[in-house]
Amino acid sequence: MSEARARPLRAAAVGYLNARPLCEGLDREPASGRIRLDCASPTEVARRVAEDEADFALMPVAAAASIGDLRIVRGCAIGCKGAVRSILLVGERPIDALDELSIDLSSRTSVVLARLVLRARRGGSEPRLIGGAPREAIESVKGARGALIIGDPALEILGRFPHVLDLGLAWSEWTGLPFVFAAWCGRAGSVSSEDEHLLETAKRAGLARRNAFADEHAARTGLPPTTLRAYLHQAIHYDLGDDEQKGLERFYDEAARAGLLPQARVRFFDEDRRSSVSLPSLDTLLARAADGERLSSAEGERLMAQATLFDLGLAADAVRQRKHPEGVVTYIVDRNVNYTNVCTTSCRFCAFYRPPGHPEGYVLSRAELGAKFAEVVEAGGVQILLQGGLHPDLRIEWYEDLFRWIKREYKLGLHALSPEEILHIARLEGMSVSRVLERLHEAGLDSVPGGGAEILVDRVRRTIAKAKCTSDEWLGVMRVAHHMGLRSSATMMYGTVDTPRDRVLHLIKIRDLQDETRGFTAFFCWDFQHERGTRIDPGDHGTVLYLRQQAIARLLLDNVDHVGASWVTQGPEVGQVALRFGADDFGSVMFEENVVSSAGTTFCMNAEAMERRIRAAGFKAARRNVRYDWLTQPS
Ligand code: SF4
Repeated sequence: MSEARARPLRAAAVGYLNARPLCEGLDREPASGRIRLDCASPTEVARRVAEDEADFALMPVAAAASIGDLRIVRGCAIGCKGAVRSILLVGERPIDALDELSIDLSSRTSVVLARLVLRARRGGSEPRLIGGAPREAIESVKGARGALIIGDPALEILGRFPHVLDLGLAWSEWTGLPFVFAAWCGRAGSVSSEDEHLLETAKRAGLARRNAFADEHAARTGLPPTTLRAYLHQAIHYDLGDDEQKGLERFYDEAARAGLLPQARVRFFDEDRRSSVSLPSLDTLLARAADGERLSSAEGERLMAQATLFDLGLAADAVRQRKHPEGVVTYIVDRNVNYTNVCTTSCRFCAFYRPPGHPEGYVLSRAELGAKFAEVVEAGGVQILLQGGLHPDLRIEWYEDLFRWIKREYKLGLHALSPEEILHIARLEGMSVSRVLERLHEAGLDSVPGGGAEILVDRVRRTIAKAKCTSDEWLGVMRVAHHMGLRSSATMMYGTVDTPRDRVLHLIKIRDLQDETRGFTAFFCWDFQHERGTRIDPGDHGTVLYLRQQAIARLLLDNVDHVGASWVTQGPEVGQVALRFGADDFGSVMFEENVVSSAGTTFCMNAEAMERRIRAAGFKAARRNVRYDWLTQPS
């Protein structure tokens, strides 16, 4: 008998040729009455499940581990039992002798597999990884630089490079097990036995149509039909039985041991129906996190909901001690200068901006800016944090001239322009983000502040800052900046319409990008300041939540070196307590700050007061630069 359901399940699947046999007929009755299927990129498919926009998805297994606590449909997968043909390491030199690897960023599972295989073959070392689009990766192969090539581009390059390592084959030779790339995954209870039956039926129908799929794809891409037929019949393996489960468990274990994925367990939907599943205790989770083991987003959510403040603090403090055993808390002498308050974006949480033409709108003159910079030099400061609104008339030359002038006259570091401002300039000039960053870097830009991240979940962004860039765009600017060698901070402003899950997902997105680029130096978080002039109600906030949130960040962001205490919004005393909740940095000496202070929060501290606070909290204090090098001996 059919199980009653109020609405069809929202399903998503990777839109690749090798996924088609698992999706056949799902868009037609009777399946379409129960399942609404959309195809998208692997990252987008994973995002929809993580952000509850899809109930289940045919998704990469690495993304499933990162989300954590998902269930898998038994019997259906995209995998291989030997050579897979579409996931290749290529080079002009032997693969094990490569120094650098351009990686196609479209598949995290393949990237993790490549890293594991290379480490196993090279005694633990791996080449330097450089992210890029598939075609760029192929074109970059030269000398000691190889590439990871995935999907159609891999099928197209047969015979082009003298050295090729098929990662399916390499895995099978290493472990003797099949490899699973993707499977139908969802949160517990989202897929019923009837749904599983529909998916199994779709697979049977799809396997029978593999030649047709291959021929259609050949007509579209120009790839030889015989190659594609062989690929779907011989290389790709669509079962998920005991051997495949062992292969997937081995992959999860190896990746967790290497610190590349959270420790994940393979759990099937049908197991849940037979027996209840026991979760690790909170103590186990906290101990694992304190030891540096990677947590999934589901585990982060669980800690957020259930762990005590005290236990979170102890675990986060253990991470701080492990990462920074010297007992030193750093701070920086710089100045936050908001060069304009004119902005076209009207974020609902912002009391600082004025729309173009408003009588209170300003752009600071060189004389006003110069006076501020001179004070920084006078105070022994090392950099300017320069941010402002999205002014419709300030062109890239204005910023270039300003940056050159600051460098020439004041010799200060320039931590300037958040991703939103970079994107704004790119749009205004009709230029790529990388060209804008190149020009600004040439003019003196040293690093990119992580402002404007708010919460990197688009549902939240659309509500609080409709005209702001999407999460992917924000992360995309940071990716380009990091690949150019620029460093940046990462931030989070929570406490509007965000949920605990949104806040954890935000951290996971930062962690994922950090895995790829290693460009984030530090993380800071604070809650929405809603006292005056803002146009949105406060959500979750308060000191306890701030401390919990920062501790969770310290536990989840295992690959980010530093966490800063946000005393500007929380007050100096809470800032000191935050040093026992995972923070190892006290941020910036505050000359002025306009965005937060426009909303009514006005804590200020000079360098001497900061050092006193740091010492009173039981640490030594040291000044730092933007890269967290100590500029003074800790004392
Ligand atoms: S937060 Fe930034 S982008 Fe949004 S309105 Fe304020 S100044 Fe403009």
